[in-house]
Amino acid sequence: MPQAPVIVWFRDDLRLSDNPALSKAAASGGPVICLYIREETGTGQRAMGAAAAWWLAQSLRALGADLERLGQRLILRSGKAAEVLASVIAETGAGSVVWNRRYDAGGIATDKAIKSDLAARGITAESFGANLLREPWEVKSAVGEPMKVFTPFWRAHQRLGHIRAPLRVPTALPAFAGPVASETVEEWGLEPTRPNWAAGFTDHWTPGEAGAQARLKAFLAGSLDGYADGRDRPDRASTSRLSPHLRFGEISPVQIWHRTHMVAGMEPGRDVSKFLAEVGWREFAYHLLFHFPHLPEANYQHRFDAFPWRADAPALKAWQKGLTGYPIVDAGLRELWHTGWMHNRVRMIVASFLVKHLLIDWRAGEAWFWDTLVDADVANNPASWQWVAGSGADAAPYFRIFNPMLQGEKFDPKGDYVRRWVPELAGLPAKAIHTPWEAPLAILHKAGVRLGETYPRPIVDHDAARARALAAFATIREPS
Ligand code: FAD
Repeated sequence: MPQAPVIVWFRDDLRLSDNPALSKAAASGGPVICLYIREETGTGQRAMGAAAAWWLAQSLRALGADLERLGQRLILRSGKAAEVLASVIAETGAGSVVWNRRYDAGGIATDKAIKSDLAARGITAESFGANLLREPWEVKSAVGEPMKVFTPFWRAHQRLGHIRAPLRVPTALPAFAGPVASETVEEWGLEPTRPNWAAGFTDHWTPGEAGAQARLKAFLAGSLDGYADGRDRPDRASTSRLSPHLRFGEISPVQIWHRTHMVAGMEPGRDVSKFLAEVGWREFAYHLLFHFPHLPEANYQHRFDAFPWRADAPALKAWQKGLTGYPIVDAGLRELWHTGWMHNRVRMIVASFLVKHLLIDWRAGEAWFWDTLVDADVANNPASWQWVAGSGADAAPYFRIFNPMLQGEKFDPKGDYVRRWVPELAGLPAKAIHTPWEAPLAILHKAGVRLGETYPRPIVDHDAARARALAAFATIREPS
């Protein structure tokens, strides 16, 4: 009797190498059906934001082309995952389904229900860890509890020792001979048309597994050396920009880990440790999400439930558009709009500005990032926003308020980053670029800057905003 086909359900693992579910299917020796489901939300899962949807379209095309080279085809279906799987099984006689795990509450609940439903119908379902260095439940405190502070988390993570070796691309992936209906990426309308705000994205990104591997290679050859200090400089391309590739699983952290160690040799120095610790922050965010599933919508520290956030729609709009009058803040938000990405240092600055200078709830900023980042991530985004807001685990203390002028002067000393993204300030000298409102009129005039006309005046006064934020925080401060 011919072997029943195996369905590989691709999700946030759009790659052929180091893909445990795909390797498992290949090892079965039977026909393999490669399936991606555009899942209907309403199952507790978060609908994808617009920039991420753009990335998904490109990534699915790339995966489809990679699979074709192996004589395979990527089947695209939309609907409720359980129903789509049931109909593909009915159409093909598949006997098993394999997938790589996800860790958000909605995803876990969906997968659990599907697994037991399939088991009840005699279909084997198997899931694998693929997108983290370790499963979130493997890292525990000495008393077996979830970890709440990064440094001990990362130490405990490393104490667990060996990270499994990455898997190769399967050499053979026999295709299912019969017809299987598929939708197309174009039918899904994932890309913007009128206006096509993603038109510039392709200048910055090559979505897909090959693009991810090329990005890692270029980073390890060019920017790893000096990363520990360079990573804070938005005016330089000193970070890996692997985040959207990791978000969609076009590359695995296991691959990054081993490649980095291979390049570093026997004695990994400060740059390597720092880079891998950043990958560790991603692990920590997933650990938090797994153990505290409400992280995306609820304050991790409950006392923040009483925080007196302000509703200020015009200020939120000015922030979103990069029109706050603070150049480093505006540069970050415009970089985000134009490229779907923002440098980490600037993410911290703009987030701090929203929650502290404007006293706007972190969830409004998180939602904007969710919609506009190509790397919008279920764990990293809320964990980082809560970290900045002070409401998170191991968070920056609320009373530590970033000064956007000093941040600009320190991390963009010549103003190149601001000049690139806020072109109306490009003519200003470095001395004035982070504080145009303090510049002499003659300097502004020479640079063609008319405050309030060509570029806004600050929407809040820094000192007053700082005092207001501290007063707001005092209302929820725990007695010491
Ligand atoms: P690199 O410095 O090259 O780091 C390598 C990888 O490590 C990154 O690709 C990323 O996966 C991980 N990493 C790096 N820094 C962090 C961090 N602070 N926390 C968690 N993981 C990290 N990252 C996302 O991937 N998606 C998000 O939605 C996201 N939202 C954020 C929101 C805010 C307010 C802040 C302050 C940070 C956010 N980050 C998010 C974390 C970080 O800014 C990005 O991961 C990083 O800028 C990506 O650039 P890179 O790939 O060049 O990073």
